[in-house]
Amino acid sequence: TIPARTTEELLRLRKRHVNPTLSVAYREPLKIVRGAGAWLYDESGRGYLDMVNNVCHVGHCHPRVVAAGQQQMARLNTNTRYLHDNLVEYALRLTATLPEPLSVVFFTNSGSEANDLALRLVQAHVRARGAVVVDHAYHGNLSSLIELSPYKFNGKGGQGKPAHVEVAQMPDSYRGPCRDAAAAGTYYAGAVDAAVARLAGRGQRAGVFLCESLLGCGGQIVLPQGYLAASYAAVRAAGGLCLADEVQVGFGRAGDHFWAFQQQGVVPDIVTLGKPIGNGHPMGAVVTTPEIAASFVSGMEYFNTFGGNPVSCAIALAVLEVIAEEGLQQQAAEVGAFLQDGLRSLQQAYEPIGDVRGCGLFIGAEIVTDRASRAPDRTLARAIVEQMKDRQVLLSTDGPDDNVLKIKPPLVFSRDNAAEFLHKLAEVLALLRPA
Ligand code: PMP
Repeated sequence: TIPARTTEELLRLRKRHVNPTLSVAYREPLKIVRGAGAWLYDESGRGYLDMVNNVCHVGHCHPRVVAAGQQQMARLNTNTRYLHDNLVEYALRLTATLPEPLSVVFFTNSGSEANDLALRLVQAHVRARGAVVVDHAYHGNLSSLIELSPYKFNGKGGQGKPAHVEVAQMPDSYRGPCRDAAAAGTYYAGAVDAAVARLAGRGQRAGVFLCESLLGCGGQIVLPQGYLAASYAAVRAAGGLCLADEVQVGFGRAGDHFWAFQQQGVVPDIVTLGKPIGNGHPMGAVVTTPEIAASFVSGMEYFNTFGGNPVSCAIALAVLEVIAEEGLQQQAAEVGAFLQDGLRSLQQAYEPIGDVRGCGLFIGAEIVTDRASRAPDRTLARAIVEQMKDRQVLLSTDGPDDNVLKIKPPLVFSRDNAAEFLHKLAEVLALLRPA
């Protein structure tokens, strides 16, 4: 049996025996022992509304997903060198959600592994190591992706930008230099074009443009219309490939589309998937075109011990079924719109809510000192998160200045859940910034 230790004891032992760089959420850490739907529960049974979990996509411990995993685990789990229905069925159902010619799937165990493999596909297809990434982005924990993640290489402990990488300014129409919605797409795509040119100026070819379809670590930013079309055109003109990182935002979270890149009317050359794909079960995938997949055939096998195993595929199949049967993409659109409306009403009353943005259940509320300067107020944002936690609502912050309230709950998050959140947020704002 596993002893139930106190919070203090867990912290002490964790400090001594576990990865010392790992942080813990909240000033007073939570010990969470159970999850169901959009809720997490501590030892005393106290429930917390989970508003920052884009992994447990169809809800914590969804019975259908749990049963699919349990049943397959009791029957067989082995590698993909045996034929198995689950692998092929999942590849069929996944590619059916994607536009042509994205029809070939590689299975991995995480989003990082998916992005790393995608870089290998790029190398095989265009033989150019140069890469363009968007500022403040995070693409994974492997060495190859720390190198492509400004969030890490320019952050604490980072070693700066590697020579084969160029960074394009974030398309941030709230605080960036271009704030005109109609012009922003073209304006910020110009930064991608300029990054390609800087690489060329050093005699390097841009092999890949790696971009999230909605910016997560950047601060819950929706790409301006036309941004990906113009950026992809610039990168393709230089002979590079376009990689859409859908690790955070895929599988219907965007509400209006199943894949967030579809909002931009583009078709990437490679798409990488992770987090929600297995509802918490470790899994990732790369989807690409037959042409690029063919370039990767060199004689060397890509083999991944756990990737695509029958248990992972059973779970992933159940996730797709639940999204469809429970209408979760539609729910993300409706509840997301209700949340944004509610946040905009609060914005009328409270100066610190500088901007409300997002789509579906991917929403950001930017906390500022005042509307005119738009100066980030990280301290207030942190205080709001802590006060909301005391009211049993789990939120977090993100963005370069850590002042954006990050809202990305499981898609089962309901209108009632949203109303409860808005009610409590109003209370907290009134407390911290009395009118
Ligand atoms: N890409 C994006 C956009 C991510 O947010 C993350 C994880 N935060 C990753 C890749 C890496 O995924 P994983 O942690 O599953 O390796």
